[in-house]
This record gives sequence, C-alpha cells and structure tokens, in this order.
Amino acid sequence: MRLTEEQKKVLFEKDTEAPFTGKFLKHTEKGNYTCANCGNELFSSSTKFDAGCGWPSFYDAKKGSVKYISDESHGMKRIEVVCAKCGGHLGHIFDDGPKPTGKRYCINSLSLEFKK
Ligand SMILES: [Zn+2]
Repeated sequence: MRLTEEQKKVLFEKDTEAPFTGKFLKHTEKGNYTCANCGNELFSSSTKFDAGCGWPSFYDAKKGSVKYISDESHGMKRIEVVCAKCGGHLGHIFDDGPKPTGKRYCINSLSLEFKK
C-alpha cells in the first residue's frame, strides 16, 4: 500500500495530525476502518462517535486488532494505540468515552483507510 509522507510521519514517527483536518472526522458511511499501512481491520463504523475532540473517535476496537503501549511523552501519561499487526501508530485511548465501554479511541485519520 502506498503511504504519503504525512501518513508515514504519523504511523512510524508517532506524529499527530492537526485537529479537525482528518478525512474521516465527519465520515459516516457504514463499513470498517483498516490500518493504512497493512490493511488490518481495526474499527467498525458502528463504534464511531462524535467526541468533538477533532479526531475520529471510536468506543471500541475489533478484538485483537490493536495493542496498547504506555506513553509518557509530552509530560502526559497516556496509552498509545498501535496496530497489532504492523505496530503502526494509530492514536491514543482515553477513559471518557460513551457506553458500553467507556473508552474513547482518539485516532488519526492518516493512520486509517476505509472499506465499505
Ligand atoms: Zn497495521
């Protein structure tokens, strides 16, 4: 799969896209979001919600599709979410999401592709 320079920066250097710029922020089609690098299915559109934070947000990930890594960069304690298959950086997970999980996966559009 061909990645842009911007996508490589996010996936492999853990960069974050500017808020409210991602192509999937207001995306509402039904389907699955996949890893832009390896095609691993990560999130279902049925778990996407509008968190108002400026990045595509999901309250759950597909079972076994992502891994969690403790991230203490930028003076914050956060949990990084990466693709379980290729290790590409996706975003972070927070505990202020909606039911049923209470989780908020805050994910870069640049790390994702979409399959109907
Ligand atoms: Zn991947």
